[in-house]
Amino acid sequence: MIPKKILKIGIDLDDTLWDFQSVFLNFYNEKFKTKHNSKDFSFYSLEKFLNLSKEEVTLLLNEFEKHSSFMNLPLVNGSKKAIEKLKENHKLFFITARPPKRKSSTKEFFSTHFGNAGKLYFLGDSSFPQLKNKGEVCKYLGIDLMIDDSLENLKSCLSLGIPSFLIDRPWNNFEEIEGIKRVKNWEEILNLINKNEN
Ligand SMILES: [Mg+2]
Repeated sequence: MIPKKILKIGIDLDDTLWDFQSVFLNFYNEKFKTKHNSKDFSFYSLEKFLNLSKEEVTLLLNEFEKHSSFMNLPLVNGSKKAIEKLKENHKLFFITARPPKRKSSTKEFFSTHFGNAGKLYFLGDSSFPQLKNKGEVCKYLGIDLMIDDSLENLKSCLSLGIPSFLIDRPWNNFEEIEGIKRVKNWEEILNLINKNEN
């Protein structure tokens, strides 16, 4: 019998395992009495979408971190079950572009829902300051497959020969790229990985 290949799978956090943008927009709408909807979110960038400077977004995200909804983000449908399944046969690496200063709150929230499914890696972390994007982090970790909702992140993976699954979201559906497989949900991800296993 041919042994199953154990894949090193890289997995993003925000809007891959749990919703982030829509909850942040609720917080923003409440604060500024606006009516933004994440379905209209055609850019990945909050700066562009809300027409704010980088500094303004940083300040808002800092404030959002203290808001009760930050530690109550709803999980993406099927993500918890899928991670439980995947960790049985593969090695999981959770890679986020959240700033390292949000390490402890992120780790706390992650472990509440996903236990010790895998180690968390923060882009810009002092343990690998030379790595500038997710592609470089994936290369460094020897990732076989990356799962993310950001086209930019997955383009950086593709440029280093790392295949990926792109979770379909309003902010990434303007472009199709060969080598980046668009997927609707976690069920589809499990089916695709399963197919590969058999
Ligand atoms: Mg994300």
